[in-house]
Amino acid sequence: MFGLAVLACGGKTQWPGDPELFGMAVVDESAAHVTQSPDFRTNYRAAVTKSLGYMGMGEAEVEGIRVVFTDHVECGGVESAGCWRPDDNTILIDVQQADCLESGVLSHELLHVFLDGDPEHTNWRWSPEWWDPLYDALLDGSSWCQHGF
Ligand SMILES: [Zn+2]
Repeated sequence: MFGLAVLACGGKTQWPGDPELFGMAVVDESAAHVTQSPDFRTNYRAAVTKSLGYMGMGEAEVEGIRVVFTDHVECGGVESAGCWRPDDNTILIDVQQADCLESGVLSHELLHVFLDGDPEHTNWRWSPEWWDPLYDALLDGSSWCQHGF
């Protein structure tokens, strides 16, 4: 925990977040207004809780992150389903490319936060074998992936 606490004090931008959403600042710029879905908050909480548990990450480590749902994402100049920008501590999620919250894009970006970067995906946790149980857990009990965003 000590090392993680130091990371959290590394001068990252801290956005004023929603206490019910782990202190994350959720912003919806999508044309479909995905966060207006009646089950958004429940599914968001479930997806983040499962991801953090699987990664061994504490809720305090995601506090102050901004999460933007949008219709187009570029990451390092490349079109992408999602992105974590350490510069302004922001996760971007392309709702056109991600079928639903439980498809793993948010979890993928949270792992970037956990690893404090690793844009080249060199950590062992990026292997499909590591992800499979988390994907299964994300879809278990999910109402969202049945109808998409
Ligand atoms: Zn990535």
